[in-house]
Amino acid sequence: MSGGIALTAHEVERSTALRSDPAWLTKAWDDPQTRVLIVEDGQVLARLGAGTAELAFVSPDRAPEGVRFLLGVDADGVAHFGVGAPLPASDGDPGTDGDGSRRGAGQETALRRAGLREVGTLLTDRDAGLLTHAVALANWHAVAGFCSRCGAPTEPETAGHSRRCTVDGSEHFPRCDPAVIMVVTDPQDRCLLARNAQWPKGRVSVLAGFVEPGESAEQAVAREVHEETGVAVSAVTYAGSQPWPMPHNLMLGFRAEAVSTDITVDAEEIEEAAWYSREDLRAALVSGELIMPPSLSISRWLIETWYGADLPRKAAT
Ligand SMILES: [Zn+2]
Repeated sequence: MSGGIALTAHEVERSTALRSDPAWLTKAWDDPQTRVLIVEDGQVLARLGAGTAELAFVSPDRAPEGVRFLLGVDADGVAHFGVGAPLPASDGDPGTDGDGSRRGAGQETALRRAGLREVGTLLTDRDAGLLTHAVALANWHAVAGFCSRCGAPTEPETAGHSRRCTVDGSEHFPRCDPAVIMVVTDPQDRCLLARNAQWPKGRVSVLAGFVEPGESAEQAVAREVHEETGVAVSAVTYAGSQPWPMPHNLMLGFRAEAVSTDITVDAEEIEEAAWYSREDLRAALVSGELIMPPSLSISRWLIETWYGADLPRKAAT
């Protein structure tokens, strides 16, 4: 496999203690070395090259007004902030007087708007971690401006990692909805793959669903698999997790063993589902009959960890 789960290799220290240190926060914002990432609707400016991407930061004096949040401090002591605000026009470099593209070492890059889905696997681990953190916080601030208790305005606190109601003083934290995603195998070690009713023909993945209130993640795995395919599972074990701030989910990955293999799809959410041996899957991918989820997703990682290798691509025709 190519590696671990995408979006999980944070390299910048989150510096939790500094969020409540106003003197340090002021000093960091006054430091021209500080880097600010502007986020609008899950998108930022990035420099894209051939198979590469790099976040475009600005210095604090060039950052627009908006909700500000501390992302952390890197190994060189450079502070990183995010700001939720409209993005500058992408035909100019926000940090220099560029024309939107620049040449370096023989490679041309273009500066433009991009989101996690597009650049999540092109960025370095460091930039991918910063972008995931920034998008998650910006998405939350965008909908958390009013108190869920009394409806009064809320104000950011702790360097943008919480908000407080201006009337009743209640404290509000970033929302994160847990969802389970699971690779289910049968006694022959075949893998259960399904096509969501909204997906194009041929696109399949593992099953997934939201954890309901009062439910454990393991219970949600068994319930969702049974609701969507009629298959009963046991031996539900945790595999790994992935932040998925689109808009505010945490994907909890599991493996589960089927104790029944007859499939009855729920027809509303799942169009079709079937058991695949490794050989079945390999043949279907090489022929182009099936399409796998993108490499950014934990679903792809779960399928590859079952398959035991990178998944084959469609053979050239
Ligand atoms: Zn309130």
